[in-house]
Amino acid sequence: MGNKFDLIVIGGGSGGLAHAQRAAEYGVNTAIIESDRLGGTCVNVGCVPKKLMWYAGLHAHQLQQAENFGFNVSSDGHDWSAVKANRNTYISKLNGIYKNNLDKRGVTYLKGDGKFVDSHTVEVNGALYRTQRILIATGGVPRLPCISGSEHGITSDEFFELEERPKKVALVGSGYIAVELAGIFRALNSDVTLFVRKDGVLRKFDNVISEGLQNAMADSGIDLITGFNPCELREANSGLHLFAEDGRKYENFDAVVWAVGRNPNTEMLDLEAAGIERDQHGFISVNEWQETNVKNIFAVGDVTGRPALTPVAIAAGRRLADRLYKGMTDRRLDYEQIPTVIFTHPPIGTVGLTEDAARREFGEAVKVYQTRFTPMAYAFSENKVKSTMKLVVTGPEEKVIGCHVIGDGADEMMQGFAVAMRMGATKADFDDTIAIHPTSAEELVTMR
Ligand SMILES: Cc1cc2nc3c(=O)[nH]c(=O)nc-3n(C[C@H](O)[C@H](O)[C@H](O)COP(=O)(O)OP(=O)(O)OC[C@H]3O[C@@H](n4cnc5c(N)ncnc54)[C@H](O)[C@@H]3O)c2cc1C
Repeated sequence: MGNKFDLIVIGGGSGGLAHAQRAAEYGVNTAIIESDRLGGTCVNVGCVPKKLMWYAGLHAHQLQQAENFGFNVSSDGHDWSAVKANRNTYISKLNGIYKNNLDKRGVTYLKGDGKFVDSHTVEVNGALYRTQRILIATGGVPRLPCISGSEHGITSDEFFELEERPKKVALVGSGYIAVELAGIFRALNSDVTLFVRKDGVLRKFDNVISEGLQNAMADSGIDLITGFNPCELREANSGLHLFAEDGRKYENFDAVVWAVGRNPNTEMLDLEAAGIERDQHGFISVNEWQETNVKNIFAVGDVTGRPALTPVAIAAGRRLADRLYKGMTDRRLDYEQIPTVIFTHPPIGTVGLTEDAARREFGEAVKVYQTRFTPMAYAFSENKVKSTMKLVVTGPEEKVIGCHVIGDGADEMMQGFAVAMRMGATKADFDDTIAIHPTSAEELVTMR
């Protein structure tokens, strides 16, 4: 039995698959261990099913607009379970494609929980596997608050298992998962309340983003409850009741979704057996080369506490393989200027520094260009969903160091601007670029 490998990857999600496949392409004898479905969080309980649900919400919004453009449409409501069935079929196909990709490259797939025996040995289903190098890419899991009755709530994982749409929903959390799920529920007509601990949502983002989203959420009918620290979730015949430390009480929810952060998924690994160190939050500590404190063991993706995004995990995994197995000695992921999109309604796209962060770093040298407008799509509509854009620039050359957009199309806009910024584009470069008319994106090259 081939129980000896050059490389064992623990975790068949975005980062693990990317590393294993790239290494195998370079001729490395590779095995990958996955306890659940191939593809990890992104494919099964993250980006992919989330984006499909976002499309469902988008269709709901577009149906509302259709009449203004001459369509005589009527909708008989929304069939949540039909979307779920379509989603599951689509995801099963992806799971199969991932398996084929492993087979094509000759990667051995071991299904089960991987557990360290020592720094060169991993146990799966009672069998021991020896290897030269190990990559840990076990991702993260949703966190539950430590309060009485938290088990009556669900997390994003169980959101994707819901057979029908809860009519009255509470979401607890202020990060991107909370606002995305709130937007999906609301677009599909649930009564939505979003509970946040401080005074708003997406507090790490630029203020045009957090304020813009809060306005859009309010316009869409999402209730935002601020300064809310939950202390109990109680199940009653009439539904779920949510209690705050300060005595406030909100009643009769059909579902309560916790979106209060994610923990590194290391429970099954027995990291101590290999002497692998974690940081104070339990994430596996790695240096800029994705190296742990143990010489032959590496880690990428959410388990390292770096920006929890699929392309980040993939890039870190591939670049590590390029460095270790293809002699590209300087190849590593630069974690600066990572573009990202939040799939709210309207969507958000952002790359680079927020205005506040830029002012902290560059002080007086920072200048800001900003615009707010109604996209043409709402020309005939009473309910006009505004777009806001901000460019943060610095120095006499006005180098663009931040670009923040909330508005329709922001999701597809940001990738190209991220390339320009990575190449060091200045405001003059933006201005010299001929606008594409009529679009929302053109506002980014015509701002004064
Ligand atoms: C609701 C939601 C929406 C998201 N939306 C986006 C988005 O729109 N865009 C984006 O870029 N990112 C998004 N993300 C984040 C993205 O999914 C993660 O950043 C990405 O999946 C991280 O990849 P990873 O390889 O680190 O871990 P994962 O993809 O989580 O893979 C880890 C794998 O390891 C397996 N595993 C764990 N322990 C063991 C073990 N002991 N033995 C064997 N296998 C094990 C797990 O089963 C899992 O399959 C979203 C996440 C969530 C939760």
